[in-house]
Amino acid sequence: MRNSRLIILILCMFLPLTHSVARADHFVYKSATEYDYPPFSVTEGGVADGFSVELLKAVAEEAGISLSFKIDRWSTIKQELEEGKLDVLPLVGYTEERDKYFDFSVPYIVMHGNIFVRKEDTGISSEEDLPGKEIIVMEGDNAQEYAIRIGLGEHLISVDTYEEAFRLLSEGRYDAVLAQGLVGARLIDMLGIRNVEAVTKLDNDGITEITENLSGFEQKFCFAVKEGNHELLSKLNEGLAIVSANGRYSDIYEKWFPYLLNNKPTFEEIAVNVLMITLPILFIILFASLVYVRNKVKKKTIELEKANREILSMEGYLRNQQKLEAIGVLASGVAHEINNPVNGIMNYCQLILEAVDKDSEIAEYARESIHETTRVSKIVKNLLQFSRDEQTRYEKVTIYQMLSQILSLIQAIIQKDQIELTIDIPEDLPEIYCHDQQIQQVLMNLITNARDSVNKKYLSSPGAKKMKLSAESYEHSGGTWVRIMVEDNGTGIDDSVRDRIFDPFFTTKGRHEGMGLGLSISYGIIREHGGDLRFETIEGGGIRFIAELPVKTDGKGIEKAQME
Ligand code: ADP
Repeated sequence: MRNSRLIILILCMFLPLTHSVARADHFVYKSATEYDYPPFSVTEGGVADGFSVELLKAVAEEAGISLSFKIDRWSTIKQELEEGKLDVLPLVGYTEERDKYFDFSVPYIVMHGNIFVRKEDTGISSEEDLPGKEIIVMEGDNAQEYAIRIGLGEHLISVDTYEEAFRLLSEGRYDAVLAQGLVGARLIDMLGIRNVEAVTKLDNDGITEITENLSGFEQKFCFAVKEGNHELLSKLNEGLAIVSANGRYSDIYEKWFPYLLNNKPTFEEIAVNVLMITLPILFIILFASLVYVRNKVKKKTIELEKANREILSMEGYLRNQQKLEAIGVLASGVAHEINNPVNGIMNYCQLILEAVDKDSEIAEYARESIHETTRVSKIVKNLLQFSRDEQTRYEKVTIYQMLSQILSLIQAIIQKDQIELTIDIPEDLPEIYCHDQQIQQVLMNLITNARDSVNKKYLSSPGAKKMKLSAESYEHSGGTWVRIMVEDNGTGIDDSVRDRIFDPFFTTKGRHEGMGLGLSISYGIIREHGGDLRFETIEGGGIRFIAELPVKTDGKGIEKAQME
């Protein structure tokens, strides 16, 4: 009982799969059944019916596929399936020969072949008596293949239907019919034949007479499709799984085999057959899905790790740059402030030295002071020199390339934050003569500020975040200029703080979020390049920062501008 529940549970896993197939499939598959092969195939009144036909119809319905049926001779429909003129046959006994040109569903019933003879003595009481006898079989049936296989081909009489075979036998023509036991018994009954019976033997108990089953003529009945039609076959197997699980198979079986109920294959037997086919498929699907999901997760993890590293390195870079800039500003300010007093102290020390006895204790203190002050002076001068060196590293820069470089750095962040970034940068912008690193620093500041602003405003609706990076060249005061714009649809800047935005250490961000140096340093850098940095409010909210830089075609121009 527990087992059946488990099997039902596993089988039910196929239901959603099957129903999705059902919805998508409007194709009508062609099927056919042979003239009477009762109770598997019954064609009374020209309507295809019988156990196998009804089972196939039920399976098709559960699997969501449509079928049409025709009725014809077995050898014809078998041929047509082989040629692909038919899609599926409901009742095909499995054999190795047939497996070469058909694909078989799981077997849904297993039956045995019997020898039928007239009741009068025909000299046939077992399989061993068959050689040399005239035996009737249906053309193309398993019985024919079996008879040929065991060397009875020479005296074999093939007819189109078993009905014909049993009539001939009954009329005294030929010696025996080889047929599937159940079919033979049903036909004898249906045709009202009284003088034909199945060959029997004594059971192991030595008393009971039982029908002699032909060794090697065991028929596993399956649905068959043309070799290679895996799609239809898997639907049929799924359908079989469902009718086994939902009780339809039992109902159909009871309808067509009322006298065989005790021999009815158990639900477990059918289910095990079905599972033998479907479980490996299920495992393959599960395994493939797992591998797919694992690869996807792995790929995403690598992408995220990369994005994370880029963000960290960029933010770290930005923070370090800001710190360095801050230290630079501070250091050069301090250096300027200290330089004069240090020089003054040195002069005073010189005066003291001249005014006192050279061997006195005071002279000694003065000399020591001069020595120490010289050290300080040297440090200050180095600092000033350092600042000047930094400012003189100018080079020709292609704005398009520089912006592309920045974009490759920020792409990961923009994607991570789900910001819609519009880029409008013409490739043919003129080269500018500038401090590459510093201009990059400015643009990074503007872009990260814009990003912070949209992130802050659209915390709960990431789809609304928008940024735009654009650039253009234009003529102004007799020279060419480049304008770079960074805009966002973020928080905007409150009127009350507009005048303080470029002040050093002004920030509206929380502790550890902003140092308030980015814009002041950026402003300084752009001004040093002879340009301008400003911002304007965008209609509908948000801010546009505009950096304007003169294009200087040679180094002298910029050096001149700096000296002024
Ligand atoms: P910080 O990043 O440390 O705040 P910044 O100099 O970069 O320093 O910016 C100063 C302040 O200017 C920010 O704190 C913010 O209030 C404001 N700001 C800068 N850019 C924008 C922007 N795109 N949108 C709204 N406010 C901005």
